[in-house]
Amino acid sequence: MQRRDWQKRLQQAGLRATPQRVLAAELVLARARHITPQQLHAELAARLPGVSLNTAYQILQQFEALGWVRRLALGARTWFDSNTTPHDHLVCTRCGRMEDLPPEQAQLSSVPQGWRITRVMRIAEGLCPRCLSR
Ligand SMILES: [Zn+2]
Ligand SMILES: [Zn+2]
Repeated sequence: MQRRDWQKRLQQAGLRATPQRVLAAELVLARARHITPQQLHAELAARLPGVSLNTAYQILQQFEALGWVRRLALGARTWFDSNTTPHDHLVCTRCGRMEDLPPEQAQLSSVPQGWRITRVMRIAEGLCPRCLSR
């Protein structure tokens, strides 16, 4: 998508197409990725000096409210995933690298009586190849 397409998409969603939001949309939504508010802040600030971490976080929250990204949280860490279809994740406990876990049948062996499960989200913790080889 071109810059003006992102502008149009933001406007259609009722958001003002500020330079920060347009750039964030390009960075986060153009391909499936997992991004933290800190990462987005660093990428925005590299091209738009003066953008605050709070702005990066607010933009991600706005995208979440529109269903454009999905929030993943583990302990104090938060990622935003631009692949919003249900899937599981692997996270490296050392460097924080987050990857998709290939889909498998999400089978729950026992579900408490009276519950209906609509989505299973799992995050597997471990060490990534790069951290293991260090
Ligand atoms: Zn790692
Ligand atoms: Zn994911």
